[in-house]
Amino acid sequence: MTDSPRILIVEDEAAIAELIAVNLRHAGYDSVLAADSRAAQRQVDARLPDAILLDWMLPGEPGITLARRWRANPRTRDIPILMLTARVEESDRVAGLDAGADDYIVKPFSPKELLARVRAVLRRRAPHATAEAVAVGALMLDPAAHRVTWNGAVVKLGPTEFRLLHHLLLAPDRVHSRAVLLDKVWGDHVFIEERTVDVHIKRLRENLREVMGEIGTAAIETVRGEGYRVNIGALSAP
Ligand code: CA
Repeated sequence: MTDSPRILIVEDEAAIAELIAVNLRHAGYDSVLAADSRAAQRQVDARLPDAILLDWMLPGEPGITLARRWRANPRTRDIPILMLTARVEESDRVAGLDAGADDYIVKPFSPKELLARVRAVLRRRAPHATAEAVAVGALMLDPAAHRVTWNGAVVKLGPTEFRLLHHLLLAPDRVHSRAVLLDKVWGDHVFIEERTVDVHIKRLRENLREVMGEIGTAAIETVRGEGYRVNIGALSAP
């Protein structure tokens, strides 16, 4: 698995889908294609994308039905959705936004506009897919540099531990359940066992400990029966 944000393109016109995929790839995104609503649902079930570009007019169920369903499901409700539509009437745009789309793009659109809008929805709804640094106390994670530091000293982490720590630091006051972590960090809570999370949390604590000592072990708390949480107190202590 790469660290590039992964975009699901739901579009039945192959030429448009391919054009979008090429532009996303050049901008550093991974993409997967689905030509109808069933294929789209299969992709989402298999692995959560970081954002979805969703055509309005599809064979079978229309995009708006998919958007409504994904917004109603706790597993998928936070995924940014950008509707692609040839419709320009205001009432249709409002219907798309009411169904839960974050934004819409009217066809034909320029690749530059598409990328700008993708970046904007990711920044708003999926900050883990952007490159902004996050910090709690003296522990800082910089996705652009792919680096974690404690008081400036570099902490070496494997790719999964890096993503796991990134996700935890983005909402440090929250308890993260194993199922949600599997979805957000591994992209799949269906086929991967929950104890996989425990294995990587253990490794993450060991990696942190090498540089941070005892604070490293305490940095991620286990909340019994619920999941894991960042120990803000331990990390912020002088
Ligand atoms: Ca279409």
